[in-house]
This record gives sequence, C-alpha cells and structure tokens, in this order.
Amino acid sequence: MENLRQAIDELEAQAGLDVRELSALVDRLQAVLCRELRDGVRRGDHLIEGKTPNGWVASACRVSGSSAADRLRVGEQLERLPRVAQAIRSGEIGYQAAAVICHLSDLLGEKREQIDEEQWIQFSKDFSIKNLRRLAEHARFVADPDGAERDTEEDYEQRYLYLSELGSMYKLDAVLDREGGMALKSALESLTKRLGPTDVRSPRQRRADAFKEIVQHALDRGTLPRRNGVRPHLSVHTTPDGLKGELGDGMPVPRKTVQRLACDCAMHRVVKAGSMVIDVGRAKRTAQPAHWRAIKARHTTCAAPGCERPIGWTQAHHLEFWSRGGETNAHRLVPLCYYHHRLVHEGGWQVVLAGERVEFIPPETPVMLRRRWGEKRWAA
Ligand SMILES: [Zn+2]
Ligand SMILES: [Zn+2]
Repeated sequence: MENLRQAIDELEAQAGLDVRELSALVDRLQAVLCRELRDGVRRGDHLIEGKTPNGWVASACRVSGSSAADRLRVGEQLERLPRVAQAIRSGEIGYQAAAVICHLSDLLGEKREQIDEEQWIQFSKDFSIKNLRRLAEHARFVADPDGAERDTEEDYEQRYLYLSELGSMYKLDAVLDREGGMALKSALESLTKRLGPTDVRSPRQRRADAFKEIVQHALDRGTLPRRNGVRPHLSVHTTPDGLKGELGDGMPVPRKTVQRLACDCAMHRVVKAGSMVIDVGRAKRTAQPAHWRAIKARHTTCAAPGCERPIGWTQAHHLEFWSRGGETNAHRLVPLCYYHHRLVHEGGWQVVLAGERVEFIPPETPVMLRRRWGEKRWAA
C-alpha cells in the first residue's frame, strides 16, 4: 500500500498522462478492491461493525447501496470467471464491462456455465456498455427464461406513482414498468416537437406540456370511465363577467385562465340565491358540433403559424370572448392547440383575422414589417 501511495503521489505531480492507461489502472485497482471487500465479508468484518455486508461496503467505500452491491457482486463473481478477471488485469476490458458480465453470472447462478467468457470479452470490446447490458439481458432471457420472468414480476411490483401538491403546482414522481414506460415515452414523443418557429419552450417544458395534453385530451374526448355516474372533468366556478373563478375544489384561478377554460367547454348555468343553488341549467357547449364542422372546413391543424397539432387536438378559441357579449359565430372561431391557446389567453398574444388568414401578434415584441420595396425594418 505504501508503494502504491508513493506511486500515486508521483502521478499527481505529473501532467500529460496517458488517460487510457490510467483508466485501465484505476479499473484494475477497482477489481482488487472488490476482491478485498468480498474477503472482508467472508471474514465477517461487517458483523464486527454490526452492519449488513452492503451497509459495511457502502460506509467503508463511501458509495451508495447499489454501488456497494455491485462491488460485492463483482468480487464474488470474478472468482468464478478467471478469464474475465485476467482481462481486467491486462487492461483488455474495463471495470464496467466486467461488472455487466459479473451481473449476468450472478443472475444465472448455476446456469453460469453457459457463459462463454472469451465471447463476452470480445462483446465488451465490440459494444458500448449500454448495448452490452442489453445483450446480457437477452442472454439471461435465453439461458434462464423462468428466472427472467420472475425478476420481471418482481420489478413490476416496484411500480408507483405519486402526485403531490407543491405550492400552486403539482409534482409527479413515478416509476413505471417497461411496457408502461415505453408507452408513455412514445406518446410523449409524438407531442414534444416544437410547435412552430415561435415555440421557445425548453425540452423539459415541452415534455410537461405533452403530458398535460394527453390527459386533457382524454378528459375532453369523454372516453374515460364514469365516476359516480359522471364523466371525469375539471370544473371551474365563475361569475358571468368572469372576474374571478375557482376550481371545483375551491382553489382560486386567475381571470385569464378562467376565460381560456370557458372559451371551449361545456357550461352549466347555475343560479344562486346567496349560497343556495336554486336552478341548474343544461350543459351547453360553447362551440357546437356545427361550429366544429365549419372550423374543420377551414383548418386541418392549430391555426398558429407553423403549428402542426392536428385539428382533433385543438380547442375552439373565440375571437370575441363570449362573456363580452360575443355570440358564438363559426367565423370568429379559431382552432388552437393547448399550448397556443394558453399563449393567447395568458401569454398576451393577439389573434387577428386578416381575410382568411389568421395572424398572431406577440405581446410588446417588435414585429418585423416588410416594406413594399423589400427592405426590412423593425416596428414596435
Ligand atoms: Zn380561447
Ligand atoms: Zn398550436
């Protein structure tokens, strides 16, 4: 150990080291460490400290529980995989690749004889760690289908989803099984593309919006099963002048948001005397099926420039807001996706009809004007 410390002292004083060689040495040391940890556990060193093997390794090496388990596994399996152990020593393969092979060997248990070490060393040279892991997973399925199935079931039991309130926002935290995760991933991917040149959202914001869009679409379509005889929906209480609103659970909603939600929705007229409800009218959609037919005759996508969201994923935006006396008129309705509808109501964008064309004017941003002779200038 003293020699090693001296050697490291020397290395630290040097510059311009060969990184590949250095990395191979670190990996070699890591393998030695794994062997020592394994021997320590066999001697029962962890018991002296009153810890589990994993807990002992985690505290001795100052690593997470999963890293500790990984090191113990590698220490255990390298003894059974002499060729792999030698490949780390000679620098042929790195620690991570060896860990993948050790993991496979651990999972296969008595069926580990099926591992052709030479072949796996070659795989480690040919494939990235990610692909090597996939390969190992496949090999596991082939060699031990029952065990793999059991593990999949165990993994499946770990799934969860938490939705908690975080101030005025909600926090979503979830672990999904592979099938669910892949389904969600492909659904999100179909909705996370930028919506036209004015879309300045970050990728993470687009993913959050895509998730919300999937949920809102399901609610809007009314395809979710009924709960207490009612289709699940978001209810907002407001007054005819739309000055203030409350969500169904009493949480206040800003006026602009109430106006957007009321723009395309089913409305109930509720007459109250004091706090007593004395009359509930029939639900009436602000945009009727006939209006939608007219909208679809003019548009196939969201009307915002460059936005490709299909018409089935849009809401009918009223150019004259209904509460200001604007009767629903098919020609004054513009289909907007969730993102652009929000930009218009809450984001201060203006929608203007110029003949058949729909124009979007951003709030207080310079608008590029094209003069007749082609010269460009910026106007406020
Ligand atoms: Zn609207
Ligand atoms: Zn749009």
